[in-house]
Amino acid sequence: MRTSLVATILAMAVIGVVLVVVAGEFYRDLALDNQRKLLTEIIEMEVHEQLEGAQQRAIEVGTSIRADVSFRQALEQHQSPRLEAALVRYIERHAPMFARLNIKRTVVLDKDFRALVNLELSPSVSSSDVLPCHAQIERLKHGPGNGRTAHSLLCPVDGRVYLGTLMPIGSDPVQGYLQINTDAALDIKKLEKLLNTPLLINFTDGVEAYRSPQWVERSAAGATLRIDHTLRDARGDAYLLISLIFDVAAFQQKLKQTEGLILMGAALITLVAVLIALLLLQKTTLQPLGALTQQLRLVGENQDHLGEQVRVSGNKELCQLATHFNAVSTELRELYQKLEKLAFTDALTGLPNRELFYDRLTQLILLARRVPGQFSLFVMDLDRFKYINDTLGHQVGDELLRQAGARLHDVVRETDTIARLGGDEFAALLPKVVDTQGAIIVAERMHAALAEPFIIDGHQLNSGISIGVVMHPYHGENQHELMQRADVAMYHAKQNQMGYAFYETEIDKHNVLELTLETELKHAINNDSLKLFYQPKIIVDSGEVYGAEALLRWIHPERGFIPPDAFIPMAEQTGLIHPLTKWVLKTAVRQAKQWHERGMMLNVAINLSAQSLRDPGLIETIESTLREVDMAPHYLTLELTETAVMSDPRRALDILTELDQKGVMLSIDDFGTGYSSLAYLKQLPMDELKIDRSFVMEMDKDKNDAVIVHSTIDLAHNMGLKVVAEGVETDQAWHTLKALGCDMGQGYFMCKPVDADTFMEWLDSSAWHPPKQQQV
Ligand code: C2E
Ligand code: CA
Ligand code: CA
Repeated sequence: MRTSLVATILAMAVIGVVLVVVAGEFYRDLALDNQRKLLTEIIEMEVHEQLEGAQQRAIEVGTSIRADVSFRQALEQHQSPRLEAALVRYIERHAPMFARLNIKRTVVLDKDFRALVNLELSPSVSSSDVLPCHAQIERLKHGPGNGRTAHSLLCPVDGRVYLGTLMPIGSDPVQGYLQINTDAALDIKKLEKLLNTPLLINFTDGVEAYRSPQWVERSAAGATLRIDHTLRDARGDAYLLISLIFDVAAFQQKLKQTEGLILMGAALITLVAVLIALLLLQKTTLQPLGALTQQLRLVGENQDHLGEQVRVSGNKELCQLATHFNAVSTELRELYQKLEKLAFTDALTGLPNRELFYDRLTQLILLARRVPGQFSLFVMDLDRFKYINDTLGHQVGDELLRQAGARLHDVVRETDTIARLGGDEFAALLPKVVDTQGAIIVAERMHAALAEPFIIDGHQLNSGISIGVVMHPYHGENQHELMQRADVAMYHAKQNQMGYAFYETEIDKHNVLELTLETELKHAINNDSLKLFYQPKIIVDSGEVYGAEALLRWIHPERGFIPPDAFIPMAEQTGLIHPLTKWVLKTAVRQAKQWHERGMMLNVAINLSAQSLRDPGLIETIESTLREVDMAPHYLTLELTETAVMSDPRRALDILTELDQKGVMLSIDDFGTGYSSLAYLKQLPMDELKIDRSFVMEMDKDKNDAVIVHSTIDLAHNMGLKVVAEGVETDQAWHTLKALGCDMGQGYFMCKPVDADTFMEWLDSSAWHPPKQQQV
């Protein structure tokens, strides 16, 4: 901006200087013109002066001739010869004067203008009887006043210019006239000396009358000025050209000096003008613009500067610009605050959201580092929310969350933060609650507030809340630790229906890694980092694919692949296994439905934990999931380990019986690894038995394993169960199993567990053909 403005001003300055130079050029032409005019006038004047002088002298001579007695007598007698003789005598007496005055011819006329004497005084081209200045005589004849006084006239005759001076002789009556003709060119020649400059006199017919010896046609230096002056007769015809050459070197020198001075002056003025303009520009434009730019930069770096008012003094437009700028800045600040509020508020409850909660937590931890202090953090989860949400619908669920949020908010102080972290999970940050006693009071107040039934849509709903409490810095010093441990405490409270629980190292039996995994697994269920892989179960006799077992995979964004053995025990301990199993069930059944829709009527098997058998909602969940996709129950197999069944045999019997009645297939998994009571197993309504892979993998090398496999197949068949051998890794194992009459095989030999897409490709391309017809 500054540069372009300065450039503009400098460009204007340059244009100014150019203008001065051009104007100087004009000025020089003008000055030369004036000089020329002046010289022309001088020449005119000098020519006039010389001719006047010549006339004067002629009159004096004429007057003296007129007074000559013998001349007067001869005139009176009209005797031309006597008149001429008298005149000649007179001229002889005054010869030097006549020569000096360039008198060329003297003419005497009678009163009727008849020439009596026509006397040539120096050799001339003209014949003696020609009247040199005939026009003058003609004029006198017809003109007014009849020539009572003397007068002169220039007369070009035969390439010469005469100055004819005519005067009367005698008065009252006039006896005659005397005409004295002088060579005018010779008079004009005097200009050369007078003006001290070369002179050229030309007749119009080209005959040269005079040329100064110094005359040069054209000056090389150009420091001369040639002035031409033309003499014209009464009719306006040119008859004499007078040219003079003046030396104008000094004049031009002076002109140049003046020009230089003017140029310098102009440059100086321009410089001063530019400086003033720059100063003004700086004050009225650049400074205010600079202030605005600076403010823009500040705003760009930090939005906190939004809304700050810039004071600008400068020109009107810039002041207006500043006013608009300030207005826009203020509006932007308001908008920004609104956006900020939106970004940090939970839309459903109007409470601070997870981001704001974490931000405030971080602030509090940082503050506590500088000023050591304590505070409490609660993580809270609504009880029975999922059930209410699933049975009464999302609208009721949303309203429950809103009311629960409001109740929580009402029981804490203004300085406390109640935030909704997502789902039915809330959190509280209590800076003023610094000891266990205080935390207990708040937790009980919250618990009591949520224990009151909610009335929504005419329903009376009992929800309740489970609260995990941690205190900074005793239970953790950073955000991660605090949140994790509050989570652990919350699950503890929930599992044991305690309402609230403080974090204790005893309840946290897991190491830090497990703790982290636990929190992350909780979120993994919702954010798509869990996957189901499928491994086919193949009918040994026909080579047909019977179905597939769904095996859980956790692809962690940072840790990568985590095997199920590494997180399922933890999920079982923390209660996370329930949402996990539910997710597996839904995903696997939907996948099976897709196979069916493609004409491949495969069975899908999922693994159930011991905890699942204690889940009162299990049967309902299975039924609704099957109903949702409209799938016959015998396409679903539930695999349960011996240990799972044996942990609560009575309950297992009840649930499995009910499931069997519903038509779902039941399978004993990992058979041979536990301490099963065969007598008990006999009572269970099982359909299938899976020999643990450790036996199958070793059976071709280890005789004991071979015996176990053999006897298990026999035993199972005796109990009316189908037998599946898992861990079939070789062709040899496959043939052994065939020889032993095993029903189905599963293992790397046929196919490793693969994701749904790969499994589909395997079905399409492998030698193991998929079933075309419905099978039972
Ligand atoms: P499982 O139910 O016995 O699953 C079979 C395991 O054997 C799988 O291990 C599978 O990859 C592996 N396997 C299959 N064929 C072969 C073979 O030819 N050779 C060898 N060496 N291994 C073979 P994975 O997937 O690591 O699963 C481990 C266990 O995790 C499962 O054992 C099951 O108890 C549990 N699990 C997996 N998914 C779930 C689930 O969704 N829910 C529950 N509750 N448990 C699951
Ligand atoms: Ca299994
Ligand atoms: Ca197994």
